Amino acid sequence: MRAVTVIPGVADSLALDENYPEPAAEEGAVLVEAVAVGICGTDHEIIAGHYGEAPPGERRLVIGHESLGRVLEDPTGALQPGDLVAGVVRHPDPVPCTNCAVGEWDMCRNGRYTEHGIKALPGFARERWRVRPTFAVPLDPALSDVGVLLEPTSVVAKAWDHIERIGHRAEWQPQSVLVTGAGPIGLLAALLASQRGLSVHVLDLATDGPKPELVHALGATYHSVPVNDLDFEPDVVVECTGAPTVVLDVMCKAAPTGIVCLAGVSSGGRTIDFDAGALNRALVLENNVVFGSVNANRRHWELAAEALARADRHWLSTLISRRLPVSRYQEAYQPGPDDIKVVLDFAV
Ligand SMILES: [Zn+2]
Repeated sequence: MRAVTVIPGVADSLALDENYPEPAAEEGAVLVEAVAVGICGTDHEIIAGHYGEAPPGERRLVIGHESLGRVLEDPTGALQPGDLVAGVVRHPDPVPCTNCAVGEWDMCRNGRYTEHGIKALPGFARERWRVRPTFAVPLDPALSDVGVLLEPTSVVAKAWDHIERIGHRAEWQPQSVLVTGAGPIGLLAALLASQRGLSVHVLDLATDGPKPELVHALGATYHSVPVNDLDFEPDVVVECTGAPTVVLDVMCKAAPTGIVCLAGVSSGGRTIDFDAGALNRALVLENNVVFGSVNANRRHWELAAEALARADRHWLSTLISRRLPVSRYQEAYQPGPDDIKVVLDFAV
């Protein structure tokens, strides 16, 4: 069968393997036929050779951690043939740590977790894959065109879950949310904010292209000004750019008792002249919280599936800016100027 693979650590080793072996029975009882695979920044980093790890004893890694597929067989009876599913990316570490032991592998403490298409587990960019029922999340059958957005949605569902847990440390009635960065993660974070009935603001550098329209369609306000020029103090910030100045600016901009969730990964290596004492003073005197959030556990994947089922399908489909057949994988993995989410289509 066909699979898109890379040699981790070797730049531009991306290739389409026409004779990749069928998934091994040990991978799990649920056999799934791939429908689509989404592409994100992590894939680009793996292709550039900066990231990624092949399964033990193998040289190549099947890429792809954003999946959508149809169940072909599940002898356990948990799922039925034809069910639409996505595969959970991260698996718990083998120790396991205190968090992995209770199914909170998104909070793994020893770093020995594995991840499909990223770290020591084959990815989903292959025609058929297998998972255990615990790692297969069912989706509403109506989401066959957009269900590939479940993985990025799971990441923001986790972010919102933790924002709410932190918020309830005291009386909490948030009104406004600022999302920085209008890529797929930012837009999906804004979707989940709008589903919570909050006043949603999205800030991004783009002044044209599809982003402003997508934000307006959520009933949210689009800003393409510096954070410091905003005329309100957000109760919640979901920072999705990872841009160092934006990260610092939103920490200073949040309202008293505000919560800043950092969900964007910075590359590091740049230094900024910054008054850390003033930031500390503001955080302490205003009871503010800044926290990081990554990945998702099964509960978040299920929350994400509910959020997608409630969302406007047309809006979700607009997030998918390009859809290419597997045969055109090279184009698909080449970033384009107006890309939001690019999807590799296995159904054609
Ligand atoms: Zn762990």
